Amino acid sequence: MASSKKKKKVCVVGAGVAGLGAAREMRREGHDVTVMEQGGGVGGQWLYDPATDGGDPLGTAGAHSSIYASLRLNTPREAIGFSDFPFFPNKDGGGDARRYPCHGEFLRYIRDFCDAFGLMDAVRLNSRVVHVGVAPRDDGGDDGVVRWVVRYEGEAVGTTAEEVFDAVVVAVGQYTRPRLPTINGMDKWSRGQLHSHSYRVPDTFKDQVVVIVGCHESGKDIALELCKVAREVHISVKPTAGSISAGMSKAVSNHHNLHLQPEIDCLCEDGRVVFADGSGVVADAIIYCTGYDYSFPFLDTAGAVTVDDNRVGPLFEHTFPPALAPSLSFVSVTKLVVLPRFFEAQARWVAQVLSGRRSLPSPEEMLRSVEEYHRAREVAGVPKRHTHNIAFDWEYCDEFGEKHCGFPRLEEWKKELIWSSIRSTLDHPESCRDDYHDSDLVLEGLRSKGWLTGRAPAMQDKDDSGGEERAPNPQTHL
Ligand SMILES: Cc1cc2nc3c(=O)[nH]c(=O)nc-3n(C[C@H](O)[C@H](O)[C@H](O)COP(=O)(O)OP(=O)(O)OC[C@H]3O[C@@H](n4cnc5c(N)ncnc54)[C@H](O)[C@@H]3O)c2cc1C
Repeated sequence: MASSKKKKKVCVVGAGVAGLGAAREMRREGHDVTVMEQGGGVGGQWLYDPATDGGDPLGTAGAHSSIYASLRLNTPREAIGFSDFPFFPNKDGGGDARRYPCHGEFLRYIRDFCDAFGLMDAVRLNSRVVHVGVAPRDDGGDDGVVRWVVRYEGEAVGTTAEEVFDAVVVAVGQYTRPRLPTINGMDKWSRGQLHSHSYRVPDTFKDQVVVIVGCHESGKDIALELCKVAREVHISVKPTAGSISAGMSKAVSNHHNLHLQPEIDCLCEDGRVVFADGSGVVADAIIYCTGYDYSFPFLDTAGAVTVDDNRVGPLFEHTFPPALAPSLSFVSVTKLVVLPRFFEAQARWVAQVLSGRRSLPSPEEMLRSVEEYHRAREVAGVPKRHTHNIAFDWEYCDEFGEKHCGFPRLEEWKKELIWSSIRSTLDHPESCRDDYHDSDLVLEGLRSKGWLTGRAPAMQDKDDSGGEERAPNPQTHL
């Protein structure tokens, strides 16, 4: 570890949890940070946008967020949040105190985080970054120091401005650009087609026959919501092992109008959707719940960083491109890690490397390490598109934080809580979020933090529509 700290001028692109966490880490390390945010507020995905991208239902017509109106968190509130800023229910009893609250509650938490750490004065809202490229050197020097020109569009239409930074941290998220399957006839099918990115409310599908493609988190959630209003809902899934949990099969059997179907073979001009087994339905709409592609349209690295089948690379430890480290870094490309903790650890590492407190291996060593990592994943049979999927590998996450920046390990009770929550989601996809039974793990965790000593705040549980009140469970909401 080196000793003298250097202050850098850092631009963070994006004010979601990753970008805001990065801003705080930069400040803590003494850097001068500016966060460029294209939206009119902070929160990223959690800033719900009712606009449905109607003009471009299979792409993005400007909306960043993919959150739908009824969405509730699928991670228990005790286990997510920044390492030193617990996601408690609101002390005054307002908000949504449930363990799996609605999306607005997490937005409230993000805003509270901003206020608590005075981050808003670093954030430039309505500032969309349109170009990030290496700044030309005035002195013609070639000592390996790279600076960056950041061009962004300001609030007034057509205005752009440029600024030079010592470093850029990319924190633009990964759930905005739809990843679509290629299906015969898709281009000619004239009925409704949209990606889950553009799904907001079920009303428009009332009495319709809807085919949902994919049965991961969004596919399951949307199918179970739609079957309450649609005439029929067909979920089309690839026949890969484990693609449908026993719990989901059970949920399907509980609804007369919900059906599982094989992969789609083709779409016909008369509205028929033909499945791989030759069966078919005439559908009014298809919703592709098929995931997202990484996208960094503003980034010009002259080929040093590419996106190939959802592998962003090369990235040393999913963070630094060896050829441009440490002045360019990414803090939000990993999947299935505990958020925003993992991003927080990445950002702390970046901040400490920029200040000179920590050093990186040579570019050659970093590149070798990335190549070894890719090889190991390939040998393990992991498809390229899952390069950044950490699959809740606690050992990797804990070691990452400890090794790179002395970040605390995730408490064991939180790991257990996350696993039990995942199991519950698989076993009871319809009711898992409404299960208020507290586990001993949570109580143990709260006690170990000294949070069980005070009086429980009076809280109300509200349903998604913000209407009906339910009796609070004092054990859950301490
Ligand atoms: C439907 C859905 C449900 C989810 N549910 C959960 C859950 O229950 N629990 C959980 O932990 N996670 C969940 N997630 C994952 C969620 O994305 C993360 O929790 C978190 O929001 C990621 O934060 P981020 O900062 O990386 O990205 P984002 O939240 O996407 O923020 C990125 C920010 O960058 C800005 N930006 C993008 N491009 C530019 C540009 N060119 N210039 C300036 N600004 C730019 C965007 O406007 C945005 O504000 C869910 C995601 C989706 C889509």
